Amino acid sequence: MNIKIIGAGLAGSECAFGLAQRGHRVDLFEMRPARMTPAHQTSNLAELVCSNSFRSSAVSNAVGLLKREMTFLGSMIMRCADEARVPAGDAFAVDRERFSAAVTRTIEREKNITVRREEVTTLSRDGYDFAVVATGPLTSHPLFEAINDFLGHDGLYFYDAIAPIVASDSLDFSKMYWKSRYGKGSGRDYLNAPMNQEQYEEFVQALLTAELYPLHDFEKAVHFEGCLPVEEIASRGIDTLRFGPMKPVGLEHPVTGDRPYAVVQLRKEDLSDEYFNIVGFQTKMKVPEQKRVIQMIPGLEEAVFARFGSMHRNTFINGPRHLRPTFQTKRDERTFFAGQITGVEGYIESAAVGLLVSRYIDELSRTGRATPLPYHTALGALGRHVAESSPDRYQPSNVTWALIEDAIGKVRKAEKRERQVEKALATIEALTSAPQVA
Ligand SMILES: Cc1cc2nc3c(=O)[nH]c(=O)nc-3n(C[C@H](O)[C@H](O)[C@H](O)COP(=O)(O)OP(=O)(O)OC[C@H]3O[C@@H](n4cnc5c(N)ncnc54)[C@H](O)[C@@H]3O)c2cc1C
Repeated sequence: MNIKIIGAGLAGSECAFGLAQRGHRVDLFEMRPARMTPAHQTSNLAELVCSNSFRSSAVSNAVGLLKREMTFLGSMIMRCADEARVPAGDAFAVDRERFSAAVTRTIEREKNITVRREEVTTLSRDGYDFAVVATGPLTSHPLFEAINDFLGHDGLYFYDAIAPIVASDSLDFSKMYWKSRYGKGSGRDYLNAPMNQEQYEEFVQALLTAELYPLHDFEKAVHFEGCLPVEEIASRGIDTLRFGPMKPVGLEHPVTGDRPYAVVQLRKEDLSDEYFNIVGFQTKMKVPEQKRVIQMIPGLEEAVFARFGSMHRNTFINGPRHLRPTFQTKRDERTFFAGQITGVEGYIESAAVGLLVSRYIDELSRTGRATPLPYHTALGALGRHVAESSPDRYQPSNVTWALIEDAIGKVRKAEKRERQVEKALATIEALTSAPQVA
């Protein structure tokens, strides 16, 4: 098959390699160095634009499990990362130059891949059997417009606004109560953490003095009016939060009938009962500050974070509206999206989607259909997130245990993680030994 891949970042490079290894011909389009993004500095493929960390390597951590699964499935990105690994304790860090040089060398040596240093400005398969869009968080403007036209209404976004997620078994339920505003909904959709005036004022003060991540120059033009960071709302006046995301109206205590001074609402994560999202708490606070400030909320004093909040410039599509769990578009089963543009977040998750898409295209070309990996694996969970989250609240996510389907049920948490890891790895290992259907 002939395949066009747009973007030679983490996802595009991994996808191209996986397809070439299976005997397909790939044209890999990369606009650098002729046209640079605001963050990339070199012409290397799979350049790491910021930190040099691939995060935890422990398999008890969801991203550690994801890396292990990728290695089992022959990930080129993981092989180059291993070659360029530098000591960093429990974290998996790489020498960024050596890493992207190794990826570039590997791709350029691959006889089935032609790297074409050109900016792509239209979204068409142009006679190729399959097309993959892997242009990442800084997709160039003309292609952004073309994707927007292809997807139509409510398809594509240019920044993300991520609220923190906390584990339910770390919350003190005695300080909170279940209630939807004005009693609408099931009654167990929202958990409310009430505050009195003193608690609220201290909380606002903590938000105002928290240290923030700086905005990159190219992010300053982004207008967040519809979705402001919580600390920005707090800076607009002492009562602004009480009239915004912390509004107590309609949230009177179900037993006493008292209306609190302010309320923080927690909503169950779409794909899991074990985690809660803190509603309206998208933030630019630094991670230790998020922990300090959010643990001031009644009931969250011991909160364990599955994900911290963030807000940045990002290009991503509304996955649940437009993608299948195999990353094919609903509009055309031969056009795929891969990498961060699908609504996954981070170097490893992006590369993982590239790996998955190479498998799915190969399977589709041989058998006429692609079957998503099981959702209890970390790899399969990325497809689950992208296709099965709520389209109305879709935001990018790192891989977390909140996305991985619970195939174990009620057992002690430590034992549960162990069994989840065993089951996921057994499933992935079985794939590597399964005969290929012609
Ligand atoms: C400022 C910033 C800081 C970040 N920091 C981190 C971090 O610390 N840790 C982390 O895990 N993740 C971080 N990320 C996210 C990380 O960059 C992505 O998760 C990852 O690079 C996504 O991989 P990708 O392959 O989807 O996209 P990319 O790696 O960005 O690759 C996309 C490629 O497509 C090319 N391209 C774009 N448009 C076109 C076009 N029209 N035609 C041809 N080529 C095109 C680009 O030049 C680029 O090479 C950061 C992102 C940004 C923007």
